[in-house]
Parts: sequence; C-alpha cells; structure tokens
Amino acid sequence: MVAELIDGKAMAARLRADLRGQLEGWQRAQRPGLAVVLVGTDPASAVYVRNKIAACEEVGLYSRRELLPADATQERVMAVIDQLNADATIHGILVQLPLPPGLDANRVLARIDPAKDVDGFGGENQGALVAGLPGLRPCTPMGVMAMLQLANVSLRGAHAAVAGRSNIVGKPLALLLLQANATVTVCHSLTRDLASVTRSCDVLVAAVGRPRMITADMVKPGATVIDVGINRGEDGKLCGDVDFHSVCQVAAKLSPVPGGVGPMTIAMLLQNTLLAFKQQEEVAPL
Ligand code: NDP
Repeated sequence: MVAELIDGKAMAARLRADLRGQLEGWQRAQRPGLAVVLVGTDPASAVYVRNKIAACEEVGLYSRRELLPADATQERVMAVIDQLNADATIHGILVQLPLPPGLDANRVLARIDPAKDVDGFGGENQGALVAGLPGLRPCTPMGVMAMLQLANVSLRGAHAAVAGRSNIVGKPLALLLLQANATVTVCHSLTRDLASVTRSCDVLVAAVGRPRMITADMVKPGATVIDVGINRGEDGKLCGDVDFHSVCQVAAKLSPVPGGVGPMTIAMLLQNTLLAFKQQEEVAPL
C-alpha cells in the first residue's frame, strides 16, 4: 500500500482563498485585526510570526506585530496585553511561545481577553472546550480536525490515539476527537508499550517532538496518520514525528512535514480571528 497524501498545504491554500473571498466582499469599514506578540529574538519564533503576518496580509486581515526585547519584564508584557485588550482595532491576540526564561507564560495567556484569545490557550476557552461549550479552539488541534474532515476520515466509533499530552496540542486534540465520537487513547512519555497502543488504532496523531519516532511497525495497516511534529532530523532537514517513508507503505492516509499540519494551523488562526471579530462585533458567526 502507498498512502494517500493528506495535503495540508493545498487544503490551507483553499481555506485562505475562501477567507480572502469573504473579506473581498467585506462591506464594513473595519477589518478584523490580529496582533502577534513576539518577545525576544528566537529565530524559529520570528519565522512563525512572519508567516502568520504574511497570511493575514494575503487574505486581507489587518495585522500588527508587537515586538518586545528578550529582557522585557513580566509587567511590561502584561501591559502590552492590556493595551491590546483595550484596542478596538484588534480582535485577536496571539503570544508567540515559548517566552524567554523568567517570563510566566501562563500569567500572560491568562491576561488575554477570552474574546480575543485566538489561540484558545486561556482558561476560559480551555474550560469551554472541556465542557463542549462555544469558544475559541486552539489552532493546531483545529487544523488536525479540519484535515481529517477534508480527507473524509470517519471518526465516529473509530479508535484514535494521540501521542503527546501538551496543553496546546495533545490534550485539546483528544477532546476534539472525543467530541467527534472517536474512542480516544492519549499516550505520553510514560505510556507502556506505545507501539501496541498505536498499532490498534484507526487514526494516529503524533504530537511528540521526536524526529521520525513513529515507524511502520507502530501503525495499523490502513490507518490514517497525522504528523504534528516539527523537528530537525540528524541530516539537518525539517521532519515530523513520523518516519514518512516507511509509514507511507502501511498507512492508508498520511500527512507530510512540511506541508501538513503547519499551514493548516495558520489557516485556523485566520478563521479564529474572523470568528472573534464576528463575535465581538455581533455579526452572524461563520
Ligand atoms: P511538548 O514538548 O509540550 O509535548 C510533547 C509530548 O510528547 C508530551 O506530552 C510528552 O509526554 C510526549 N512524549 C515525549 N516523548 C514521548 C515518547 N517517547 N512517547 C510518547 N510520548 C512522548 O510538545 P508540543 O505538544 O508543544 O509539540 C509537539 C510537537 O508538535 C513538536 O514537534 C512541536 O514542534 C510540534 N508542533 C507543531 C505545530 C504545528 O503547527 N505544526 C504547533 C505546535 C507544536 P510527557 O507529557 O509525559 O512529557
């Protein structure tokens, strides 16, 4: 078997084109606005922020970069969040993680107005997700769910494994899969015999951060595999958590890295910004 590619790059391009179409027909004076806060000079974070701002420009969203030095104090970062919370031109606020050492990311995320929390990392939106109530959902898990839907993967009654239990990917994704009526197993670094768990699953999502750790023997023949990981392999190249070349001989559907979950995460951020705008301005939701 050679797996069908779940082409996140192409899916995201179609979603951005759809958003651009919606915003071109925009009759309102005000455009939805996203602020991206970057503290410090981490090169990877700078690239992520640049990509997010470029995507906003491409679809016609207003965007602003708030750059702070690596030695910014907690109070200074909190003050920037307060300003953005009060700024009527900004409907979504994203703080690029990780923050430099010494800054408490949880306090910063908790300060974002829940209505503008387009990353969905604040307590109110996380609680809404757990309870199945409306709210802004985290972009990467949403991107994974959109990929599964667009690839026509049936989740109802399916056994899905999520490798990774972080607050930003693994845990929220497990909840979204559960809401889609999958039977969900969450795996982590202390899971015993990971391979026997993953081999029993119809859907496997890898969000671990270990280059190519999911090998063909860990995948059920015919399964769908989504690779969230972004790593540098020993060859210095960007790679996922899944050993693409061996797993594509076993899986029925497989997402690549790069060109999979990454672009879908950005597309979901744009969608969340538009949703946040509509909710704040009381326009009919998407
Ligand atoms: P974290 O480091 O926060 O979490 C990693 C998770 O993997 C932890 O729950 C950890 O378990 C688990 N884990 C570690 N080793 C193993 C193992 N051997 N077997 C099973 N589970 C293991 O990472 P993130 O969730 O933030 O990110 C995961 C990956 O996804 C990274 O590569 C990151 O770069 C990428 N990513 C990609 C995004 C995108 O847009 N494409 C967005 C966000 C992240 P434990 O809890 O026990 O420590």
